[in-house]
Amino acid sequence: MIAPFSRQIRTANFYALEVASAIGKRARSITVLGKSETPFKIFGPTFGRHIRAFIQDHTRITIRQDSLVRSFEGFDHVEHMVLKDGLCAVAQTVIIANGIHPCTSMLVGSGIQTNTMGYVIVDEQMKTNQSNVYAIGDCTEFPLTLFGGHRISLPHAHAAQFQGKIAALSITNRTNSIEYVPFIWTDLFDRHITFCGDFFTTPMANVETIVKGDIFQNTYCCYILKNDEVIAIIDCSKKAVAVQFIEIFRLKIKVKQEMIESNPNDDWKWLLE
Ligand SMILES: Cc1cc2nc3c(=O)[nH]c(=O)nc-3n(C[C@H](O)[C@H](O)[C@H](O)COP(=O)(O)OP(=O)(O)OC[C@H]3O[C@@H](n4cnc5c(N)ncnc54)[C@H](O)[C@@H]3O)c2cc1C
Repeated sequence: MIAPFSRQIRTANFYALEVASAIGKRARSITVLGKSETPFKIFGPTFGRHIRAFIQDHTRITIRQDSLVRSFEGFDHVEHMVLKDGLCAVAQTVIIANGIHPCTSMLVGSGIQTNTMGYVIVDEQMKTNQSNVYAIGDCTEFPLTLFGGHRISLPHAHAAQFQGKIAALSITNRTNSIEYVPFIWTDLFDRHITFCGDFFTTPMANVETIVKGDIFQNTYCCYILKNDEVIAIIDCSKKAVAVQFIEIFRLKIKVKQEMIESNPNDDWKWLLE
């Protein structure tokens, strides 16, 4: 599907950028089209602008946001796409990455409760509404107890692993007192980026951000605050800040703006000692 030295145009974001990153050097040109104004919408516009600037400068990949695809056109094979503003985007290969949905239709009629999108509804022990039936991973909607109990779906490896552990403890009648802290990692264009905290229950339009360092230098750290309290971290540095915040959030330690400003090295181990 991926032909070297061909022009690739694709839609969407998280996975699209991962695929673009993986094939980047082998394609003559790649354009990533996205619907939102900035890439990685869920992580807020500040990070979106910074990662876009990095990708545009550091790679030959073009990112076009706010570019809804209306149709694919061509004879026998795709030749171009028509965008919502009427523009034509030439394309030899198109990879569509416009979201995921759970493959749970086999549960229809089983009595196992799913939400309107088909995600299996579980409690904090990963139990479904049917006794002795558990669900974990991408197909679930679970309560984020540490952040107000809002129910979310989080299709990422760390969540699936954590939920597997919780389910195993629950099945063997052992109490679990550890609450889940969302943690996501990705490798993009020789950058290792980690995300930790609550990106889900607060609209990113209503938060403050404090950015230290920059992505180009591999020293980037973006603190996201609500009511003067850190609720999430985006880390693209070698300091493992997001990893430290897994424990900080779990222990419900409040980190405020003045603490960030008086911590030039972003080393938070002292808080955990
Ligand atoms: C392209 C891509 C890039 C990703 N990058 C990242 C990343 O950078 N970081 C990150 O944290 N996460 C990433 N993820 C997400 C991560 O892979 C998933 O969150 C994780 O694998 C979820 O684990 P899971 O066990 O819920 O599901 P899966 O790993 O998908 O396992 C589900 C298994 O169930 C099997 N199955 C499905 N239906 C049936 C059936 N009816 N009967 C029997 N078996 C069945 C499937 O074959 C599969 O083996 C990425 C995913 C994709 C697709």
